[in-house]
Amino acid sequence: MRKVLFVFAAVFCFCHLLALGQESSPASRNTPSTAQRTIYLDCGALWDGKADKLVSKVTISVSMPEGKIVDVKAQRDGMATGGAEHIDLSKQTCLPGLIDTHTHVLLQGDITAEDYDVQLLKQSPEYRTIVATVNARRALEYGFTTIRDLETEGAGYADADIKKAINNGIIPGPRMQVATRAMDVTGSYPLQGYAPDVPVPHGVQLVDSADAARKAVREQISYGADWIKVYSDRSYRVREDGVLDDIPTFTVEELRAIVDEAHREKHKVASHAMALNGVHNSVEAGVDTIEHGNYIADEDLKTMAAHGTWYVPTIFVGDYVAKGRAAAGAPVWLKMVAIHEDTFRRAMKAGVKIAFGTDAGGFDWAIDPAKEFGYMVKWGMSPAQAMRAATSSAAELLGMQDQVGTIEPGKFADIVAVAGDPLADVTVLEKVDFVMKGGVVYQKN
Ligand SMILES: [Zn+2]
Repeated sequence: MRKVLFVFAAVFCFCHLLALGQESSPASRNTPSTAQRTIYLDCGALWDGKADKLVSKVTISVSMPEGKIVDVKAQRDGMATGGAEHIDLSKQTCLPGLIDTHTHVLLQGDITAEDYDVQLLKQSPEYRTIVATVNARRALEYGFTTIRDLETEGAGYADADIKKAINNGIIPGPRMQVATRAMDVTGSYPLQGYAPDVPVPHGVQLVDSADAARKAVREQISYGADWIKVYSDRSYRVREDGVLDDIPTFTVEELRAIVDEAHREKHKVASHAMALNGVHNSVEAGVDTIEHGNYIADEDLKTMAAHGTWYVPTIFVGDYVAKGRAAAGAPVWLKMVAIHEDTFRRAMKAGVKIAFGTDAGGFDWAIDPAKEFGYMVKWGMSPAQAMRAATSSAAELLGMQDQVGTIEPGKFADIVAVAGDPLADVTVLEKVDFVMKGGVVYQKN
């Protein structure tokens, strides 16, 4: 009996480490050679993931096959040593691999309800998974070496399999944390509007009651969820006083049960909450991240700042879908953009922790998610603040700050490079032309 217990404990601990993304370097499985060697990246300039300034002429040493940074040093004249493996990035700025904390690799853009329904009704989960492997590669090629994928939208646990295939070196892609199926209550999430006797798929796991929610958390974690994702509100309208109102989905009791169960199992909760009540209930229930947050009341911003609750604003996608959704009969989406800007500025003032997230997949993967940087700067962040949101801060949100998010010894060699100075013009991040993940070069123009 005792032996059985011991084996169980060992297995549990192993799974738990995997769930937190602390597995050994995937690069070691991507690299054909396991021989010990050093790669030198000679960068024209370096942004380390934290500073307000660039440092010019820096060489980053990467030890292989571990795929980790061992040294970051100012270059001396005649740096190149005979026979050593140097990568010439002397005309570029090196920076940490970018992190997108809100993606959907299983989605291909859904401006209208029809766009969404077609994907669930006419594409098999298998087809969608094949396309998702291409999206994962695209994310990496855009320079995103880590992503948090926030639910599969009806494709079951396919995200956990994409993550597994990447970690096993089967397909190229970023490091991933995944949310699997997400949750909402009956009557709140697409597909909606079909005749009652026509069975249709849903983009989430439907849960009603605190007990059902706890069971769903347990189930999703058992099948590979790193995060629990909930949809906390729907049906948006602007009140006369300018506040963005909504219909909350879960009761606070249900949300509390989800958060309590997830936290008990050492997992975190991301809440889609776009307006007054959804955000308030989520913050009260103790979720870890607020997704979108087009409107957040000042009192909730205060609570978020005090509790360290993250705000993932996903600005670009709101602008991208607004016109199409207004044309399809929901003009509120046009008004939501200005409300969102005001909230973003108030959140900055209130000292709320903000991380970069785009909702890629909510818009077509052919569009570079790095467009988000320009929006963050337009709405009041400095380029360095926006870039920290996508590197050191995003790593902290993921609990991966010991592994990624900055360029310093001990971290994975997740490094991208761009021509030009992103601190002077943040839009150069839309033209990443060098991507290394765990010491392996994935894309180089
Ligand atoms: Zn989303």
